[in-house]
Amino acid sequence: MDYLPVFLRLEAAPVVVVGGGEVALRKAQWLLKAGAQVTLIAPELHAALSHYALDAALTHRACHFTPAALEGAVAVVAATADRAVNAAVAAAAQARRIPVNVVDDAQLSSFIFPAIIDRSPLIVAVSSAGHAPVLARSVREQIEALLPARLGALARFMGRYRAQVRHALRAAGRRAFWERIVRGPVAREVLRGRETAAASALRRELRTSQLTTPAGEPAGVLGEVYLIGAGPGDPDLLTLRALQLLQQADVILYDRLVGEEVLERARRDAERVFVGKESGERGQQERIHRLLLELALAGKRVARLKGGDPFVFGRGGEELEVLRAHGIPFTVVPGITAALGAAASSGLPLTQRGVAHSVTFVTGHGEGGAALEWRYFAQPEHTVVFYMGVAQLPAIIARLRAAGAAASHPVALIERATLPEQRLLRGTLADLAERAQAAQVQAPALLIVGAVAALASADELSAFSLPPPARALA
Ligand code: SAH
Repeated sequence: MDYLPVFLRLEAAPVVVVGGGEVALRKAQWLLKAGAQVTLIAPELHAALSHYALDAALTHRACHFTPAALEGAVAVVAATADRAVNAAVAAAAQARRIPVNVVDDAQLSSFIFPAIIDRSPLIVAVSSAGHAPVLARSVREQIEALLPARLGALARFMGRYRAQVRHALRAAGRRAFWERIVRGPVAREVLRGRETAAASALRRELRTSQLTTPAGEPAGVLGEVYLIGAGPGDPDLLTLRALQLLQQADVILYDRLVGEEVLERARRDAERVFVGKESGERGQQERIHRLLLELALAGKRVARLKGGDPFVFGRGGEELEVLRAHGIPFTVVPGITAALGAAASSGLPLTQRGVAHSVTFVTGHGEGGAALEWRYFAQPEHTVVFYMGVAQLPAIIARLRAAGAAASHPVALIERATLPEQRLLRGTLADLAERAQAAQVQAPALLIVGAVAALASADELSAFSLPPPARALA
C-alpha cells in the first residue's frame, strides 16, 4: 500500500491553495465542502473562483507564492500550470512538514486526492496512488452506479438511532440488528424517501429484537422479492436500481429472455434458477409462485428478473398478487420494454408529429380483440406494436387487411432488438410475411405496424440478409 487512506477533518482548518485556474477551482470546491478555511494564492482568478472570493467563502491573495504564505496552514495544494512554482510550493511545505498535494504530480505530493463518491456522510474514495487516475475515476463511476442516491440519507437515519439502539440491545445483538435494518424494509423505505414509515418499521424491529435472544442468524426473518425488469437484452439498458438490487439478491429467478450478459451483472455468489417457460409447459407459472413464496419465507432476498418490463406482457401482476396475499415485501423495478428498446435501436420513433399520434402494445398470439379495435390498428397514424407475434404473422396481416389497412401499409419486424445479433426487416403488409419467412425470423421479435415503421433506419437493413425483392402483391 503506497498511501494510507484516511478521512481528514478540515472544519474551520486553514488550507492554502496555490493557483487560480480550473484545477484550483475543483480542489477548492472539495476543500470548501469539507468546511476548510481556504486561502487562494494567485495573481489572477478563474471567474468561478472570484465568485467564491466575492461571497467571502474563501480568501484571495492576489500575489505570487512565497513560503511565508504557508504560515499556520494544515495542508497545501499546488495547482498552478507552472511546474517550477508547484515544486517551490512542495519544497516549502515539506520543509515545514505540512502535507502537500501537487495536482497530477504524485512525486511531489505527500497526500493525494482520491476519486470521490459523495453520499455524505457516506463517502467512498478511490485511488490508484497516482498510477492511473483515469482508471480510478472509471472504478468510481462503476461503484457510483451501484449506490442508491439516498444512501447518505440512510447513513444519517441510522446515525440518529445509534444511541437508542446501543441502549436497547446488548452488543451481541446489535450487529445482526443493523444488518437487518440495512438489508430489509427499513432501508428500503429510507431509500424511497419514506422516512416516517422507515422510523416506525425500525421501532418495530427494535421491539422484536429486544424480545428475542440475539443468537447468530435471526430466525423467522421474512425475505423479500424484487420484481425486476431486465430490459430488452443489452445489459447497459438495465436501470441503476435493477443493478443495485441484483447486487443484493441471494437468489435470482430468471426467464428465457434474460441473457447471460445481464446475469453477469448480478452478485457473483447469488444462486441462479432458470424458470423460463418452454412452450407447452403447463403449470410453470404456479411453480414460480410457489418458489417465490418458499424462498421469501425462508428469509431470502429474491430477484425475479424478467425480460423487458415486468408489467408489460410479463405476468408481473400475477406474481405481485401472490406476494401481496402472503404479506411478502416486494419492490417493482421497471425495465425498458422490448417495444422501446426496438424503437430506439432501429431509429424508429413510435410517435411523431404529423405521422403517428398514439401507440398500442398488443400481444400477437391473443384471441383476436374486437373488430372496432382492429379498425383502429389499421390506421397508419396509429402505431401498433405486436409482441409474441412471429408465429402469427400471416393471421395478423390478414386481420389488418380485413380491417381496412392498405397493402402498402408500412411495417417493421425487429428480431433480438438491442442485441448484437439484432435484425431489422422493413416492408409493407403486402410483402412482409413472405420476406420474414425467407429470412427465417424467429422469436423474440416485434412487429411494428404504422406509418412510423417506414422511418426505421435503412442502414440496419444491411444486418439482415434479405431475399430478392418480393413480388408486389398490391
Ligand atoms: N415483458 C417483456 C415482454 C415479454 S413477452 C417486455 O416488456 O419486453 C415476450 C415477447 O417480447 C417476445 O415474443 C417478443 O415479441 C418481445 N421481445 C422481448 N425481447 C425482445 C427483443 N430483444 N427483441 C424483439 N422482441 C422482443
